[in-house]
Amino acid sequence: MSVAIYHEPQLVTHSPFARDPAVRLLVRTRLKPKGVQQARRKHRTRIEHQLAIEAEARVEAATAQKTEPDLLDRFFALPPEVRNHVYRLLLVQPCKFNYSHNFRCKPLWYEYPGPAHTAHGPDSNMNFACADCRWHVWHQGLPVFVSPARSQWAPPMTNEYLCDNCYSQNIRAKREPHPTLRNLKCLCARRENLGIFLINKQFYTEASHVFWTENCFAFENPTILIDFLSGIRPQTRSLITRISFMIDPDEVGVSLDRKHVQQCWRLLRLCDGLTELELDQFFLSNLRWVLGIKNITPKTRVVFMRTPERAEILYLMTYDQRIWKGVSRRQPVKNILTDTLADSMLRQKPMTGKATQALFNRQQRQENGDGDDTRGEETL
Ligand SMILES: [Zn+2]
Ligand SMILES: [Zn+2]
Repeated sequence: MSVAIYHEPQLVTHSPFARDPAVRLLVRTRLKPKGVQQARRKHRTRIEHQLAIEAEARVEAATAQKTEPDLLDRFFALPPEVRNHVYRLLLVQPCKFNYSHNFRCKPLWYEYPGPAHTAHGPDSNMNFACADCRWHVWHQGLPVFVSPARSQWAPPMTNEYLCDNCYSQNIRAKREPHPTLRNLKCLCARRENLGIFLINKQFYTEASHVFWTENCFAFENPTILIDFLSGIRPQTRSLITRISFMIDPDEVGVSLDRKHVQQCWRLLRLCDGLTELELDQFFLSNLRWVLGIKNITPKTRVVFMRTPERAEILYLMTYDQRIWKGVSRRQPVKNILTDTLADSMLRQKPMTGKATQALFNRQQRQENGDGDDTRGEETL
């Protein structure tokens, strides 16, 4: 009769003076004779076997009790295209740049602790504590600030005594890339109905496919793009089909460090399911960036967009309800550089470095008004 091999805990026998009392005790007890060990193992196997049979019986009994199909059975009896349409209605939202504030909108404040809805009144972030940014009020016994922007789907915090800003910056950022709350203006453009992923495994598999392949993922600065695309699994990244990457003219102090932006191109190249890409034409103002962009190969559409100048947006401030005032008014740009670049990207044949450089220089000359083409127009 064959007996399953068990790995008995390895006892430390070389030092009878172990520091741990538990180990010391173990060393003193003599091992039981072989026969006894074998009998115990056999007994243990029998119990485990019995438990497995009982669990199986319980599942069978539950299935037998069900007399008529429940809602889930009926849902999964629908044809897949109908199910996908249900997921689409629940999970696919327009590009976030096109959102307007709703009438209940409460903007977020980034004064520490935060982000909070208001800096004044009883709900104000000033009536709360945080072990980092508001440690000086700790002795007053105030509750720790929990931001209304905190996602219920985020992994649980490993330190409950910090506000969301401090936790993200001091702890989570050191462990994993993650989209921070820093850039949220309000919660109007938040994705909805994500809870349906938790219904069961089949829901998750089917709905997440629709979610990732049919939504547009929009980023208003390089940091958000990097944090998002490097934080998700590579398999998920390959599902993304639509990306919009703009620079928000409304935002001051966007980090456009060269290495930082190059990392964006690397990550976008890794999105191998990409079909539609929208890029800020601002990225065409630097040859190094153009050399990075040319290697991204979306399948059906590449557009370069221009956002209005900051002054134009300032004039809108008083009545405009759009969340991203500048980016929502983006317009496609067409010139020799955008056309040739987009064409080579769509044909999946990136231009050579030399050709890109020549094209870039030509466009620059044209913009500065001293190119051949412009001079030709003037003489006409
Ligand atoms: Zn809003
Ligand atoms: Zn804090």
